[in-house]
Amino acid sequence: IFIANSNVQFLDVNAAGCKLLGYTREEVQQSNVQDVAKFPMKSPVQFIELMEGKTLIIEGEAFRKDGKLVCVEISARKLPNGSFQGIVRDITERKQTEEKLRQLSSAVEHSPSAIVITDVNGNIEYVNPKFTELTGYTFDEVHGKLPANTYGANQMHSETGVGHWQAISAGKEWRGEMLNRRKNGETYWEAVSISPIIDPNGTVTHFVAVSEDITLRKENEEKIKRLNAGLEQMAMTDHLTSLYNRRYFMQRGVEELKRAKRNSQPLALLMLDIDEFKKVNDTYGHEAGDLVLQQVAASLKSSLREIDILGRLGGEEFAVLLPNPSLEGAVLLAERVRQTIANTSFKTPGDVLISTVTISIGVAAFTDEMSDTDDLLRNADAAMYRAKDSGRNCVGVYRAAEEDVKRRS
Ligand code: GH3
Ligand code: MG
Ligand code: MG
Repeated sequence: IFIANSNVQFLDVNAAGCKLLGYTREEVQQSNVQDVAKFPMKSPVQFIELMEGKTLIIEGEAFRKDGKLVCVEISARKLPNGSFQGIVRDITERKQTEEKLRQLSSAVEHSPSAIVITDVNGNIEYVNPKFTELTGYTFDEVHGKLPANTYGANQMHSETGVGHWQAISAGKEWRGEMLNRRKNGETYWEAVSISPIIDPNGTVTHFVAVSEDITLRKENEEKIKRLNAGLEQMAMTDHLTSLYNRRYFMQRGVEELKRAKRNSQPLALLMLDIDEFKKVNDTYGHEAGDLVLQQVAASLKSSLREIDILGRLGGEEFAVLLPNPSLEGAVLLAERVRQTIANTSFKTPGDVLISTVTISIGVAAFTDEMSDTDDLLRNADAAMYRAKDSGRNCVGVYRAAEEDVKRRS
């Protein structure tokens, strides 16, 4: 507190005043207010009001003896004897806090993430411009409302599996993805982090949600997933017949053989080859040949069970892996498949009837001595060639004992 005369010359100052300025009382008394402080008046009107006896509150600066600047607020008043009284407060800390707040709110206002602050009950108290840009909702449209009743999530995935209310009401941060809705009805995915704001007493007073639109990222992820699934499909199928290709068929063969061994279950393989297919091509053209291959593939597929594995090994050669049949069961199935093909009428793309198409089939069963699928394939192939030797359009069966006899003779 100080007293100054009408020339703003200090008359007296209290101990707190001396401490604020760093001068002794005597030093202050020898100075003019304008030497140690600056109180800019906003207008001449303020000066007139002061002269008329009104109390004036203005912010200014004081210069300490040590050269430091102190932000101050003065409450000045003219006393009845014509001198002035000033009550001065150090507001440096308040100014610094205000500056810090100004910086923080500028960061929030210009943040590239959408930011929402709610009270403890979830009622919206603040949204930043990015939120408006993202959702289409202005602050006035969501102020005091619950996110769930405006843009709120109708789906969410937590990173930790814990629900967001459960986490944040326990004072923890929640991170996850939410499917929200823009004002125009469009849905969008956002990556969100919600944290509680806790006061010095440990009480949750607000929640702050920071989020980013990840719709594009999500869409790209989906696209890549679909592409990968497509590629995988392409890698395992034969493009002409849509059956499994040789590579994938062999891969499945290895798995099935392992399983049969492990469970001591039977496994049989059929090798199928179209009889005199070259003639079909030569007579009706390659395109007609392709169509026959497709029709044979479709016919085979419909003759088999869901668990049977059918592939096109190449050219006009097909193979079927039959999990779980007895050898007799496999032979019966082969016979049925052969008959079906023989009884089917095939046509060229120009609708010309193709004279009978038949197939020869070799059947082999998996036995304990076999080490891999190649053995099984070789045996089925041998049986198939015996069927060709026997005049085609028939089923040959590989029987180990007979082959031994044949080899010895
Ligand atoms: P066999 O009864 O001894 O099996 O006689 P084949 O004529 O079927 O035997 P071969 O293996 O000598 O001939 C197979 C023919 O299959 C040769 C080829 O022109 C034809 N071929 C192979 N792949 C395709 C294809 O993708 N499309 C068409 N149209 N023909 C094919
Ligand atoms: Mg062939
Ligand atoms: Mg053939």
